[in-house]
Amino acid sequence: MPNQCLVCSTPIEPFHSFGRMPIANGFLLPEQFASEYFFELKVAHCPACGMVQLTEHVDREKMFHENYAFYSSTSKRMAEHFEQLAEDVRTRHLGGKDPFVVEIGSNDGITLQHFAGAGIRHLGIEPSANVAEVARGKGVQTVCRFFDEALAREIVSEHGQADAFLGANVMCHIPYLHSVAAGIRLLLKPTGVLIYEDPYLGDIVEKTSYDQIYDEHAFYFSVASVSHLFGAHGMEVVDVAPQHVHGGSMRYVIAHKGARPVSQAVERQRAKEHSLGLHQPATYKHLSRNIERSRDELMKLLRELKHQGKRVVGYGATSKSTTVTNYCGITPDLVEFISDTTPIKQGKFSPGVHIPVKPYAEFASRYPDYALLFAWNHGEEIMAKEGAFVAAGGKWISYVPKVAVL
Ligand SMILES: [Zn+2]
Repeated sequence: MPNQCLVCSTPIEPFHSFGRMPIANGFLLPEQFASEYFFELKVAHCPACGMVQLTEHVDREKMFHENYAFYSSTSKRMAEHFEQLAEDVRTRHLGGKDPFVVEIGSNDGITLQHFAGAGIRHLGIEPSANVAEVARGKGVQTVCRFFDEALAREIVSEHGQADAFLGANVMCHIPYLHSVAAGIRLLLKPTGVLIYEDPYLGDIVEKTSYDQIYDEHAFYFSVASVSHLFGAHGMEVVDVAPQHVHGGSMRYVIAHKGARPVSQAVERQRAKEHSLGLHQPATYKHLSRNIERSRDELMKLLRELKHQGKRVVGYGATSKSTTVTNYCGITPDLVEFISDTTPIKQGKFSPGVHIPVKPYAEFASRYPDYALLFAWNHGEEIMAKEGAFVAAGGKWISYVPKVAVL
């Protein structure tokens, strides 16, 4: 029995398997190696609604829990991005009296802190207890729950309907999207808007940025597939805006059908998706071949560098890197350690291939010959900061959009 599309129930067409994969953010200690959890990471395309999705889903409690190791506010550029988002929402979408803003996956309050600071009623929904606690410490109202239709009803009865419902890099995490969409429909005022952004399928296809594909990302959205999903709940996409963050994201503005004018940007992006072939199975066959080629080129380069006796260190113990290291087979003999500034990851080992994660000081105190840029989506910010590494003869290795020494 082929898997069915989680959005429209049509049999989906798998186009690439990354093989046995651990939890992307499951950095661990040696005593946990024996009990490490693996699943098959495989992606498929729905020929009916166009949604690209994983074929197998990891239990959410395995991914988002009290030890969840991702804090949004660790990147300065992301902090600026979300400050601008908050400003945009405040000026364009909160016209009425005593507005109310809800955010799903509010993390450490990186966005909602700007509403809290301005005295605007808000509510964050964040299932990971440790990051929720950080948000509360900043004065951001936060409930530690998963969002669904039932929680939407509770929020409406306690706080009333919302002017804006926000979500950044979270909608794509949720396999039961219909319950979420139904909840958002209940929660939004008649003129309210859902504004959310996630990694964009068009960017993955164009850049072969296959490391966007990992357990937490159940869906890879396009304007076409998002329109299909929310159309089933009486809503429509009224605006879209490509974002450079996270290696290429799309911001979707969604409203009750007919409540808001539809921007021309929506039709423009749909036309672009059509010319990229996002509706065609052949596009995904081609993507699969490009992913294999990227893996082969990266491994050839890393083996050559090892042969030359060069030291290679990973830069950024990202969730994305788990797909790359495990799919390619990058082991500690090729990459000595991964440098990361997040204390909760330091002293642990990367999921699956068990490369040691060490504090940034280990990188800076003895520069390697090459740094493998796992955090390529923050590449500009990182390279601007690491002038001394390059001055000392260090070189960067990137693999998006092509495997290259920079
Ligand atoms: Zn479908």
